[in-house]
Amino acid sequence: MKTKERFVFLECTACKNRNYTTFKRQKSSYKLEKKKFCPFCRKHVSHKEHKL
Ligand SMILES: [Zn+2]
Repeated sequence: MKTKERFVFLECTACKNRNYTTFKRQKSSYKLEKKKFCPFCRKHVSHKEHKL
């Protein structure tokens, strides 16, 4: 069986800019949160997933 994946945005928790996109398995219930560099904040900030 094929694993379904969907596209999600990673949104900066500080400035709310959607700086990254990533794939996520459809059935996973956890919320993605990754520390990434935000070019607007000019530092590493937590990015939370945001649906398309
Ligand atoms: Zn930011």
